[in-house]
Amino acid sequence: MNENPDLKVFISTRESSCDECGKKLGSRAWITLVGERGALCLSCADLDHLVFLQPGNAALTRRARKHSTLSAVVLKWSRARKRYERQGVLVEENGLVRAEAECLTDGEVRARRREREAERCAELDREYVARFARRIRELFPNCAPGAEDAIAEHACLRYSGRVGRSAIAKALDEKAVHLAVVAHIRHAKTSYDELLAQGWDRHEARHQVAQQVQSVLDCWRRT
Ligand SMILES: [Zn+2]
Repeated sequence: MNENPDLKVFISTRESSCDECGKKLGSRAWITLVGERGALCLSCADLDHLVFLQPGNAALTRRARKHSTLSAVVLKWSRARKRYERQGVLVEENGLVRAEAECLTDGEVRARRREREAERCAELDREYVARFARRIRELFPNCAPGAEDAIAEHACLRYSGRVGRSAIAKALDEKAVHLAVVAHIRHAKTSYDELLAQGWDRHEARHQVAQQVQSVLDCWRRT
């Protein structure tokens, strides 16, 4: 067995859809391939909390991966060269922030960070994030201070691009809020990401951390 093989994300070159949630992903979708189960969107693969880092600064890339429990290489098929080519990496935002801090003497990195922050703000509907966060606090009155903001931002990024009023209502639904909270707890409070990084099957990894997730949920619900 390969120890900690790189997780791979492919930018598909044809129309694809997710084999788990069924979502149509278009022709340039970012997908993972999972054994015989086919293609998964990044949400279903639990990689959608990672941020994309373009190539061009080897030190930054190396440090960002080092500081990320979970990271993935992004590949795209080159028709001309008839092989997969590396487009960059997906890393954890915290890992990237740490790596950037280590590279801060490099002015180019600072510029890129500003760009990324501007992009992020444009994507988020502030009011929507605030509503989502309030809903989390209502349903999980004892959740860690600030956790509701992190969860809401992530959930809203997931819904960005389809933030019609009906999508917002759907996202504020109790079940959707619950799913967002569970996903956050898995990533933030358990060894789930480490298990994925070690190549564990997602379903087995979820099973492994289920009890830990449940005990955090119980604690957060308590008033
Ligand atoms: Zn999916």
